[in-house]
Amino acid sequence: MTGIALNKIQLLAAKVFLPFLLSLFSCLCIAQQNQVALVGGLLIDGTGAEPINNSIVLIRNDTIEAVGTIGRLSVPDDYQIVSTEGMTVMPGLWDPHVHLLYNGHPDFGHWFSTYTDQFASVTIPASARQFLMAGVTSVRDLAVNTNDIVSVRNRINNDEIDGPTIYAAGSALMPTDAPQTRSHILPVRDVQAAIDATQDLIDAGMDFVKILGAAPASQESMNAIVETAHAAGVRVTAHGREDEEIRVALRAGVDEIQHIGVGSPTYPQDLLDMVQARIDGGTPLYWNPTIGMILNTDELAADPEFLDDPKNFVGLPPEIEIDIRQAISNATFNVQPPTASDTIKRKLQSLSELGVIFTFGSDEGSFGHPASEATWRELETWVFEMGMDPLTAIKWATADSAAYLGVADKVGTISPGMLADVITVKGSPLRHFSTLREPVMVFKHGLRYK
Ligand SMILES: [Zn+2]
Repeated sequence: MTGIALNKIQLLAAKVFLPFLLSLFSCLCIAQQNQVALVGGLLIDGTGAEPINNSIVLIRNDTIEAVGTIGRLSVPDDYQIVSTEGMTVMPGLWDPHVHLLYNGHPDFGHWFSTYTDQFASVTIPASARQFLMAGVTSVRDLAVNTNDIVSVRNRINNDEIDGPTIYAAGSALMPTDAPQTRSHILPVRDVQAAIDATQDLIDAGMDFVKILGAAPASQESMNAIVETAHAAGVRVTAHGREDEEIRVALRAGVDEIQHIGVGSPTYPQDLLDMVQARIDGGTPLYWNPTIGMILNTDELAADPEFLDDPKNFVGLPPEIEIDIRQAISNATFNVQPPTASDTIKRKLQSLSELGVIFTFGSDEGSFGHPASEATWRELETWVFEMGMDPLTAIKWATADSAAYLGVADKVGTISPGMLADVITVKGSPLRHFSTLREPVMVFKHGLRYK
């Protein structure tokens, strides 16, 4: 079997049968190798560099071994040649704002009261699998019960189930006296509770701390969360649709704000002054706009065909699939005012002028946004509605996202020594961006899943 690339199924078979075979033939020395040459396609390496025609990418085990072109880089004899002619080869996509526990159901109250005990076993794994099949090889989950995400992440890392590499914030901390009502939100009633809850997240191996529902009354708890997280080298990201939430978060010194609210036409000057002071002080401020959720609602309401696409329900039992379908078709989409697009552009512009750094993310899982569609819908919104250059959009959703997560030296580009998270799509996304919606091949850590 030397030199034959193993896909997921073959590897599973190999894991089961190899020990058995070896026990029969003790001298049969089978190296369990994964050596693949992707040959012929256009290469977009994720760095923002110009694409390369007639590329060759050599994958050895979980790593990209070499990158070159036909005629300049030779393919060793024992590599399995996989033609990528007619395709683009690019890094697996990243989605650094997802909610794996949801699968697009519009009624959160119903979702939590009905399925909380199936999040770890059913709904999170379903989203994870849909992401991987959609070519998204890394995600950051922002608000999920910590134990649930640790369990699913371990199963993915142990190859028990399919899914992307998961970075997670675990349970979102909400500074409030109210009791806990949903498994993904942890109320913290005072400063000591805030410190303890933050430390618990760090001890559980969470990559970020997420804050929801900041209010002026909770400023001291907010400060304590940020201080505790920063002392451990963990960054803090805060929900911020409302101006007051953003002010409290900025005062506390969070690293990143989530969302662009469309309730007001501009950010007030005092808020922009705070942003300016923060950046002038030398500490970068990140912002995760998630605009597709807002700007795609009209289209989803007008054309609900996505509800009939089986790929949006992969991994879910029939009763949950029917529940989501019926709920969405009976629900009223929260249609946004026609000014929403201009408001978003205006707010993005004013933040950008102050030096805010935007991070990518789709807010997957929310109303009508299943994992198999959310990421490319968000990217399309940036390209087609915000006018972002496609090459920049790809860099943003690959290399830049890996850099933001602090792993740019390991993954996120197609370069020698990087983990082999690689997808291929038909044609070129630089000319036909929507080709990203249907990857032909998906490799994660060198193993082929699609
Ligand atoms: Zn979110």
